[in-house]
Amino acid sequence: MRLAFLGPPGAGKGTLAELYAARHGLAHLSTGEMLRAAIAAGTPLGQQARPYVETGRLVPQALLGEVVAARLREVTAYILDGYPRTLEQAAFLEELPGFALDAVVFLAVPAEVAVRRLSARRVCPSCGAVHGREVGAGDACRRCGGELTVRADDDEKTVRRRYDVYVRETAAVVEHYRDAGKLREVDGTGEPETVLARLEAALAPLARGHDNG
Ligand code: AMP
Repeated sequence: MRLAFLGPPGAGKGTLAELYAARHGLAHLSTGEMLRAAIAAGTPLGQQARPYVETGRLVPQALLGEVVAARLREVTAYILDGYPRTLEQAAFLEELPGFALDAVVFLAVPAEVAVRRLSARRVCPSCGAVHGREVGAGDACRRCGGELTVRADDDEKTVRRRYDVYVRETAAVVEHYRDAGKLREVDGTGEPETVLARLEAALAPLARGHDNG
């Protein structure tokens, strides 16, 4: 099964992609995570991508496209989390032989829910876990005990820019897949388990087809 998850910042793409991928044995490929790892490791990609990621702008496709394509060639069943985010990226994916998406999930959340989630988000640099309102100031990571931090691009100004980028660039990608009949729109409000149940229902026919071979 080949899926992509789209939605505004704070829609819960990463959390839901991780939960759904674990249940269905899919690889979880997050371009945001790839870029943050490259930045932390100081690779050439990381050095070039850093100014874009830190200011909430899109990393140019010329830097990202081949990196994504190389990761896709390593796996057969996956969720692409946060890619494609522009029509250019969607066209790039469609031109890669053998990588046609089976479905694209659009996680819909109102802007005020997304902003509330992002302002509460704490991430663990050690294990990558993402926490929300359930952790308080000074709490340790519930998964590994590591020290939690705020993502560098979750400050108010950068969140606003990321939201603008989403409206300007990614909303058109959502419509592109709607026109192609591939879009599965899922209400992204509520707790992760609630959204996961909706996602399971929305993708059930597809998942059954794949389970049957
Ligand atoms: P995310 O973790 O999906 O919120 O992505 C964090 C940041 O990584 C974004 O604000 C962009 O700077 C960059 N990024 C992630 N995915 C893409 C993409 N498909 N195209 C361009 N930049 C991206």
